[in-house]
Amino acid sequence: MRYISTRGQAPATDFTGVLLAGLAPDGGLYVPESWPHFVAADWRALRGLPYAELAARVMRPFVGDTIPFATLQRLCGEAYGGFAHPAVAPLVQLDANLWAQELFHGPTLAFKDMAMQLLGRLFDHVLTEQDARVTIVGATSGDTGSAAIEACAGRERVDIVILHPHNRTSEVQRRQMTTVMDANVSNLAVEGTFDDCQDLVKAMFADAPFRREMQLSAVNSINWARVAAQIPYYVASALALGAPDREVAFSVPTGNFGNVLAAWAARRMGLPISRLVIGSNRNNILSRFLTDNDMSMQPVEPSLSPSMDIQVSSNFERLLFELLEHDGAATAAVMTRFRAEGRMPVSDAAWGRATALFRAFTLDDPGTLAEIRRLHDAAGYLADPHSAIGIAAARAHGVAGVPMVAMATAHPAKFPDAMEQATGVRPALPKHLADLYDRAERFTVVPADVATIQGHVRGLARRNHG
Ligand SMILES: *Cc1c(COP(=O)(O)O)cnc(C)c1O
Repeated sequence: MRYISTRGQAPATDFTGVLLAGLAPDGGLYVPESWPHFVAADWRALRGLPYAELAARVMRPFVGDTIPFATLQRLCGEAYGGFAHPAVAPLVQLDANLWAQELFHGPTLAFKDMAMQLLGRLFDHVLTEQDARVTIVGATSGDTGSAAIEACAGRERVDIVILHPHNRTSEVQRRQMTTVMDANVSNLAVEGTFDDCQDLVKAMFADAPFRREMQLSAVNSINWARVAAQIPYYVASALALGAPDREVAFSVPTGNFGNVLAAWAARRMGLPISRLVIGSNRNNILSRFLTDNDMSMQPVEPSLSPSMDIQVSSNFERLLFELLEHDGAATAAVMTRFRAEGRMPVSDAAWGRATALFRAFTLDDPGTLAEIRRLHDAAGYLADPHSAIGIAAARAHGVAGVPMVAMATAHPAKFPDAMEQATGVRPALPKHLADLYDRAERFTVVPADVATIQGHVRGLARRNHG
């Protein structure tokens, strides 16, 4: 399997190249050159497998021959063996035709663990094989950072620097990052928004000498390996609900477009998915795009679902590349104009290809609290604010007769204030995190300035390996 850049100006590479590089050197995102296709018999053969085995088989074509299949199976077994639920990503029925798929049973209680637990192990394996090391830099609006740190802390061949927007993550989210004391972990609290953090990471990658000097690598959701590791849970729930002999639909609370892109990828591989619903909070650039072909940037507003407080969904570029029929030059031109003018020019033909499959739904904070309360009253279910938006979106855009699965992306205990406000119930943290509020924290507040942050990255690398 070869990967090409959405901007058409980078050499093709293989899975390990994509894993280690994150962003392509031309500023684009890697996508498969051609898509694997599973026929009905291939899907049926996956029914009933333990999650880790299913994940290895679904990812196999994307990994190609870069990692032996037995190794991939072992790494998946280790990654998902540490989850708190034996089904890894269980389905919970909420209504006659509506399910929640819980993606939050990993160590940091959010769906990011589904990919990151495997990614940390893939990095370790590949870097050991190549006798190399990397510095991972990433931007987080909350959950990516803790999942990445949890996956990389103490690993010998990796330093990790995570940028989060100062005072814009929940306390649980911040503490899950800042209480990890391993010497290879550094947390920078940036005076700015998540989009500023993301831009700073992009600027560090664009600085070619710095990128080489530090062996920079990314684990935020632009890394294709993360998208690939998110495909299996869509396959697992679709099979459980009757695929490939029956269509399914998914609803995904969306920020950077990474999670829903994995659902799209599953469909591209032949899984019969009839609809994908995108849930947004008030930061609803994707909703405006799908409703009015209006992809225009607006300032980020903080909300009860901080992992979706995003105005530029970086993974959207991969869908755009598809909508533009794999024309890298056209994709690059659209992205350049988007950056310059704040509005993405998408032709009606390309937009129509998107609206044929996707629907969008926006829920503000009061609506989110009302949905959390409604779910608690009706089904005794505690959905965190992100998951509640996905479930409300599923309800708004369900397809008659088609099972609808809403992705539950965070454990309710990550957002205890919102849960208590909505239901009167303050969910307890699971045992392994019970003392989180008593642990010491370590982080540095920095201005949104790339040179300052590069200095911190250099400092960490120097401390750890001369
Ligand atoms: C990251 C995250 C999202 C958004 O996922 P994307 O892949 O960025 O669209 C939604 N909910 C939670 C809890 C998250 O951590």
